[in-house]
Amino acid sequence: MQKDRNLTIAGNWKMNNTVAAALALVNDLTVALAHVTAVDIVVCPPFTALSDVAQALRGSNIHLGAQDMSAHNAGAYTGDIAAEMLQELAVRYVILGHSERRQYHQELDACVARKAQAAHAASLQPIICVGETLSQREAGHMEQVLATQVRESLTGLTTNQMVETMIAYEPVWAIGTGKTASPEQAQEAHAFIRGVLVTLFDEATARRVRIQYGGSVRPSNARELMSQPDVDGALVGGASLDAQSFTEIVNNAIETNT
Ligand code: PEP
Repeated sequence: MQKDRNLTIAGNWKMNNTVAAALALVNDLTVALAHVTAVDIVVCPPFTALSDVAQALRGSNIHLGAQDMSAHNAGAYTGDIAAEMLQELAVRYVILGHSERRQYHQELDACVARKAQAAHAASLQPIICVGETLSQREAGHMEQVLATQVRESLTGLTTNQMVETMIAYEPVWAIGTGKTASPEQAQEAHAFIRGVLVTLFDEATARRVRIQYGGSVRPSNARELMSQPDVDGALVGGASLDAQSFTEIVNNAIETNT
């Protein structure tokens, strides 16, 4: 099924890969994925490898993303990285509000919204992560949780900024656990999120926003997930650390969109 929206496959390397390991991985990926035009490909290395990976990606069809950034532009924020510093390294995308940031760094939706605004001010495209925990799902609160996260993480974005923003639906119970949402569960959540976007913006805008699925995406389940009408690609953690797995996921995405 051909979708209006470009599929995007993004690899979130998390706190993995020294510079040497990052370069080895990215060199394999630039060769293996050189043929790809139909899918947008993004890799998100740790901050320490961004500069070297940026150079290795020059002239390739793979875009660079970061895993987080500060909401502030500069100043006394020890350990933080500003949007301008990412932009200087040819970073185009930035993951915001990942559940690991929410869980281990107590990041709330309001903070994600401030970061999203700072990202757009520096011409970076945010990938905003939302998703419910298992207990929230089991208590029947999935929709309420997603609606709140989407609404509050997008506060202040204009329509133009919204179409340059991706959302990643990442059920927390599926991240790094080997448990994947079924294609039906993913579609249900993605359609719900798109409905929230209609209420926040309008139908035409909501139709243009890419919503990725994330949570134990593997070559074995990527095709079915991405065949769903509202699933516009994947945010891939563990499987993005292996060139062959990531390449297979990208190839599966191409097949679902022809
Ligand atoms: C992620 O952390 O964004 C993710 C989806 O991880 P994994 O694919 O390993 O579940």
